[in-house]
Amino acid sequence: MTNRELFYKFLAQTSDSPLAIEVSRAEGVYLYGPNDEKYIDLISGIAVSNVGHRHPHVVKAIKEQLDKHMHLMVYGEFIQTPQVKLAELLTSNLPEKLNSVYLVNSGSEAVEGALKLSKRYTGRTEIVCFKNAYHGSSHGALSVMGDERMKNAFRPLLPDVRILEFNNIEMLNQISTNTACVIVEPIQGEAGVIVPDIEFIKKLRNICSAKGVLLIFDEIQTGFGRTVSLWAFEQFDVVPDILLLAKGMGGGLPIGAFISSKEIMNSLTNNPVLGHITTFGGNPVCAAAALANLEVIIDNKLWQKALMIENVCKELLIHPKIKNIRGRGALLAIEFEDFNENKKVIDSCLKNGLITDWFLFADNCMRIAPPLIITEEQLREACKIIIDSI
Ligand code: PMP
Repeated sequence: MTNRELFYKFLAQTSDSPLAIEVSRAEGVYLYGPNDEKYIDLISGIAVSNVGHRHPHVVKAIKEQLDKHMHLMVYGEFIQTPQVKLAELLTSNLPEKLNSVYLVNSGSEAVEGALKLSKRYTGRTEIVCFKNAYHGSSHGALSVMGDERMKNAFRPLLPDVRILEFNNIEMLNQISTNTACVIVEPIQGEAGVIVPDIEFIKKLRNICSAKGVLLIFDEIQTGFGRTVSLWAFEQFDVVPDILLLAKGMGGGLPIGAFISSKEIMNSLTNNPVLGHITTFGGNPVCAAAALANLEVIIDNKLWQKALMIENVCKELLIHPKIKNIRGRGALLAIEFEDFNENKKVIDSCLKNGLITDWFLFADNCMRIAPPLIITEEQLREACKIIIDSI
């Protein structure tokens, strides 16, 4: 059987129309098929490959760690160099109160950990989230998703969840002293890249502080330089109580984190002990990759490249069929009339050697989220392919 036949026969299918592109290897901004077909990757495996595919510094760190050890023990028991060095570098690039790192396996697990932590720390149960928010696909993360169609098939979900409109300052008054936490993407991703007003985020921070509510920023998609600063929250001049990371964290390996203050994080330690347990969280090979990945991003100030990406795309992606282009840095949405228009262009891009797709809650928008190492020349070529494909 061919790989294609095996794919359809033995791998669980989550949609009727997977992209089904066969990839044999990847390097930098390019993916290659079995017959050396070359694709430019304009979505970074959905905001993962910020430093590009197989960055040499990341690959070297992985190989060196493989030669030392792989998994040793469940999270939190043994002292392992890649984990402690990663936590040190992360916290030294974060505001002082974000000084305690819990390493997990994925974005969804980071969300789960943060929701549990908030309930334990505050002793409250209500969770506030926003319309069109995406925080993952596990039961807890699904409970705070801002899309009823995706949630309804899985009820009952977590009780006591309140959904507010994103960027609606008035509605923030519904946050109360019953609220344990507010979980929010500082820039919404799957909604089709919605950048809120700075006043909205500032008011949110103020209300949370006034009511003793923990503010959770889900930077799983926006972090690691994607939105023109290392962390998106820097642009809003506020600091969350809990920060969630994953996706672009591991340079292509799976790892995530929820990060808070030592004081808040301590509430997972006692009564009962082991408030969050994970076998593979902070896997040493993934942690070594994440450390190297962060070094590459910081040493090269890759967030500055995100600004170039935004500017070039906004300059070149002009066409009567493009209704709007929005977003920040290397997280952009190109809006078409409807899904059919968008899908036609996406399919045509794929045929022309460019990989893109749409957003979960904005199927009329094409996703532009290339590796941050893309050169201006490569990006100009990609934009030309998009315009030609339209
Ligand atoms: N939060 C956000 C903002 C995301 O974009 C995603 C993934 N698209 C997640 C959480 C969930 O991450 P994962 O798929 O690793 O569970």
